[in-house]
Amino acid sequence: MRQYTSSREQVVSTCRALLERGYLKATEGNVSVRVPGEEAFAVTPSSYDYAKMRADDIVVLDFEQKRLEGTLKASIEAGMHAAVYRERPDVNAIVHTHQPYASALALVRRPIPALFDEQVRFLGRSVEIIDYAPSGTSFLKKNVRRTVTSGANAFILANHGVLVLGGGTERAVFNMALLEKVALDYLLALMTGDKVRKVPAPIREIAFAKLRGDEKKLKKQLVAAREAAEAAEAAASAAGEAPAETASPAPPTAEALDPSGAQLAGYAISAYPDVEDVSRRLQALVSQRLRPIKRDAMAGYLDYFETQCRRSKELTEEAKEFIPGGVQHNLAFNYPFPLAIERAEGARLWDVDGNEYIDFLQAGGPTVLGSNYAPLREKVAEVVATSGPVTGLFHEYELKLAQLVNRLMPSCEMFRMFGSGTESVMAAIRAARTHTGKKWVIKMGGAYHGWSDQMVYGLHVPGTWRFEAKGIPFGATARTREVYPNDLKALRRKLIENKALGGTAAVIVEPIGPESGTRPVPFEFNACVRELCDEFGALLIFDEVVTGFRLGLGGAQGYFGVRPDLTVFGKCITGGYPMAGGVGGRRDVMLRFASGIGGKSGERAYVGGTLSANPLSCAAGYFAITEMERTNAPVIAGRAGDRLTAGLSDIIRRYRLPFVAYNQGSIVHLETSGVMLLDLKHPVRLAKELKSRKHMLEEMGAAYTASGVITLAGSRMYTSMADTDEVIDDALERFERVLSSVEGV
Ligand code: PMP
Repeated sequence: MRQYTSSREQVVSTCRALLERGYLKATEGNVSVRVPGEEAFAVTPSSYDYAKMRADDIVVLDFEQKRLEGTLKASIEAGMHAAVYRERPDVNAIVHTHQPYASALALVRRPIPALFDEQVRFLGRSVEIIDYAPSGTSFLKKNVRRTVTSGANAFILANHGVLVLGGGTERAVFNMALLEKVALDYLLALMTGDKVRKVPAPIREIAFAKLRGDEKKLKKQLVAAREAAEAAEAAASAAGEAPAETASPAPPTAEALDPSGAQLAGYAISAYPDVEDVSRRLQALVSQRLRPIKRDAMAGYLDYFETQCRRSKELTEEAKEFIPGGVQHNLAFNYPFPLAIERAEGARLWDVDGNEYIDFLQAGGPTVLGSNYAPLREKVAEVVATSGPVTGLFHEYELKLAQLVNRLMPSCEMFRMFGSGTESVMAAIRAARTHTGKKWVIKMGGAYHGWSDQMVYGLHVPGTWRFEAKGIPFGATARTREVYPNDLKALRRKLIENKALGGTAAVIVEPIGPESGTRPVPFEFNACVRELCDEFGALLIFDEVVTGFRLGLGGAQGYFGVRPDLTVFGKCITGGYPMAGGVGGRRDVMLRFASGIGGKSGERAYVGGTLSANPLSCAAGYFAITEMERTNAPVIAGRAGDRLTAGLSDIIRRYRLPFVAYNQGSIVHLETSGVMLLDLKHPVRLAKELKSRKHMLEEMGAAYTASGVITLAGSRMYTSMADTDEVIDDALERFERVLSSVEGV
């Protein structure tokens, strides 16, 4: 029985259209279309005259290139077509020809830059050259797969013609025509020897965003087709046929969802923010004109740095000679120049010029007990005095810390230390991929999961793919995908797409929302992600680098009552001491780290680290968390966050400012410029306003500092147990001075 007639006919009619327009000649090139809802495609046969082609001549293959229909030998490039369909769910038709103008550019290895808006709109930011490899080889397939992830629709194959993609056959033919024109234009322009003028970058991004919009729609259609196919499969299996499903991890037991004794210790969040209201106010903020500090007031704040922070300036200027940028910590790159800090204690910091500050940076979050907490320092000093900071051999505090984590977060049946949050995310993803045998990882747009190659994707600003991925090869992010924050439907679609492409190993989330809750998620969000992960057999990774122990001893998982498969730790896991990283989770997954050790079998997720799990870090973590439990520090810090937020909201209301203050316990957000809320759904606004909104935030941060309050990048505050009511009230007076000096007050 013939099943694929319509797909085969589409290939024939596409060949005709290409022949008529002169893009295909004799037997060169090949054409294919995706079979809707299946991992299969119909492709032209090898070395066959296009003028004679009939539907019966077309071959239907699955993505493993197994023949499903047709008798002729499939095109030698069928593997390349399969690779593209796997990689690009938005592509439904592929044309490969030896088009001469583009081929000429291939010979001189000149990619076509963005020359025309229309070109970017349909073909992508540029027409890249895919590295040379002989036809029909796996090398070519690999090069193609790596390059098509850019989202573009036209490529030049080195010494081998062009590859054009489309959401449908008509679009592929159109793209082919457009490529021919653009390639000819570029060749002619190059021949003049003059400078070739390109589309300005912001316009290029806007045009490209439109192309991506199209791709999203096409992906949706693919998902719909896939869903229909799945429904049919389900109906068939209900009628007695065996379901061809892959195994999902065992769903969490009822006992597992119980957040345990940690619940009793309480959480830092006294009332979960009204996310809809916060989001509405944040959207209103980004839709308004900027309200920066008045120029004369700002001059006064900057004068503070010049006159009161001279030693800081000298030191950090000198450091620029030896340290790139002068400072090494992302959070220390402050406007107008970084401060050099000499002393830290509790809620306060002192710089090298002797100025005192209220410290709402708290090292970026790890010190819930307050900075440089003396009882902890003494305990750590005792351990270090005996064993030194590291021996490379086992130390009892490793066990003590693992047991403590397990008691407070029962989802962490096993635990292992690493050097940082970044490393721990890498390890968790590696374990998830090893365990599931799947490759895709989905993150939320804008979320920060450290700076490993695979996670510098959709960083800070949702929808930005590889914007920040300088120095990172395409292959490294090729299996990372992002979905817009809070968009469960998009997450489902992505999981379905990935299923067609080999499956999702893990979904990783910051449980209070991307960028430590800068884009807060509704309370039920994590539970819904858990369900989706179970449905698709993906592991759920909670990145609790910020929330772990700060939100409460049971972490975000305890607070939300959701059991992740793996949890990533950082920051608080060593109470502010070095080498802050760890992964905890399901025993069967965690054992992937041990395979090979002690003769254990099974596939191993390779990890290491000379200083990982050293006595200093493990003892620091153990004592810090034990002390947090004894003192109820997360809850006390949370109440300080509530008081700070209430005070800030009051100031905002009294001065009728558009600013937004909200908190998740001891994580307090004060959005004044809205820069963190820009995204690629509004590309014009992003291109136009990013710089000015970012600068306003820098100014706000400088003004708070000059007024004696240190914040995280001018928009976030971490409170600690050391923040008494007096400290908070003092800080609020200082904030009021700054906020009452903005334009329009
Ligand atoms: N994940 C999250 C949610 C983070 O906030 C951070 C750091 N702020 C990281 C991962 C990376 O941790 P580290 O800086 O220790 O590498």
